[in-house]
Amino acid sequence: MSERDVVIAGGGMAGISLALALAKRLPAHCRITLVEGFALPPAVATAPDYHPSFDARSTALSYSSERIYRSLGLWPLLQRWLSPIETIHVSSRGHFGSTLLRAADYGWPALGHVVENAWLGQALLHALRAEGRVELLNPARVVAAQPTREGVALTLEGEAPHSLHAALLVVADGADSGLRERLGVAATEKSYRQHALICNVGTAEAHAGCAFERFTDEGPLALLPLLATVGVPHRSALVWTLPPERALHLLECPEDEFLAALQQRFGYRLGRLQQAGARHAYPLTLRHCDEQVRAGIAVMGNAAHALHPVAGQGFNLALRDIWALCEVLAAGMAKGQSPGALAVLQQYQARQRSDQRRTIEFSDRLPALFMHNDPMLALARDLALSGLDWVAPLKRAFVAHAAGLEALETAHE
Ligand SMILES: Cc1cc2nc3c(=O)[nH]c(=O)nc-3n(C[C@H](O)[C@H](O)[C@H](O)COP(=O)(O)OP(=O)(O)OC[C@H]3O[C@@H](n4cnc5c(N)ncnc54)[C@H](O)[C@@H]3O)c2cc1C
Repeated sequence: MSERDVVIAGGGMAGISLALALAKRLPAHCRITLVEGFALPPAVATAPDYHPSFDARSTALSYSSERIYRSLGLWPLLQRWLSPIETIHVSSRGHFGSTLLRAADYGWPALGHVVENAWLGQALLHALRAEGRVELLNPARVVAAQPTREGVALTLEGEAPHSLHAALLVVADGADSGLRERLGVAATEKSYRQHALICNVGTAEAHAGCAFERFTDEGPLALLPLLATVGVPHRSALVWTLPPERALHLLECPEDEFLAALQQRFGYRLGRLQQAGARHAYPLTLRHCDEQVRAGIAVMGNAAHALHPVAGQGFNLALRDIWALCEVLAAGMAKGQSPGALAVLQQYQARQRSDQRRTIEFSDRLPALFMHNDPMLALARDLALSGLDWVAPLKRAFVAHAAGLEALETAHE
């Protein structure tokens, strides 16, 4: 059976980022393979090529992600697709509290950067092909994984050898991970009984680098600044959390009705909402695996934790996990340990446990706090929002958490 040191099952944004990070950090003799089921777009493309993973969504990359991509030498490649977030306007519909977080107040050029998933995916794929070190099996799927004494025996389907043996299998096949289930790795699930409706919106006024986070009694609504495109000079990416029936209605209704409903909820901070792109809806579930490592196996990305998108933390957390895994594997291999050694993988899990716990709690509590009907709680929330403007350290802590810096700095200590 053909031997590999690391096989990554799943070439979504997490799988490709991990492959690039491993290629950079692991010794040259290490054989790294990435297996992706969906046929990836060709090497050169002039328009985003949509993919189930690199779909019509956008991602807000935090400062921690910027630092990781910079360390990997990928930031300059992404730069032309990034729209900087210079301010974040947080408000609550029907309540008096609102706050403005400004990058300049912290001496930062930006609080984060928004990138369309289609472009992020394409740039990562381009980097992977240019790097040349990672073996890409595509389209191919890992359909079975059997633990052995030295790793995992894999059965593949598609454009690939029928079987491989890996010292380490990384399960990065997304939130509905079939491999996680086949391996019997348990995931805790909590349905939010809400859908996230996403689409790109053309507005009359420029966003001026402002991201809007608006909490409403139906759920939070975010509009993130996007770069201009041909014929649409002012664009923002909408993530609108709604009860499922309302989300499905707004997904199908005529564009005029959709824009009127959004305008009524969001107001006129970006002037008249003029145009809506393709709409998509995602049911929202919090999923988290307590057991993310076994001898020869690590579960990463959405397969390990899928979060509420309100705080834009899911992929940023996945990147910090990736960074930590690479550091631990590189240190272990330098001491002659196998990448699949349980002791090495346990170090990774121990290192990321508190970052994952804090980030999951932050993403989970935020929407619940803002949807509460208790008037005393609403008052406390309004004061807390206004308080962010009054109390600089509190605001600083909120921004540092959202930027993922706290976790990254702890990891580097
Ligand atoms: C509405 C919304 C907005 C979001 N906004 C943000 C944000 O602003 N910031 C942020 O940090 N995060 C955000 N997230 C989270 C982010 O989108 C995810 O963290 C990210 O997409 C994780 O990707 P992944 O690679 O783990 O999984 P996926 O994207 O699901 O990729 C899994 C891949 O595995 C492949 N695959 C499946 N099975 C197999 C198999 N057996 N063999 C081989 N390949 C296989 C699939 O084809 C797929 O390409 C958001 C999520 C949602 C729903």
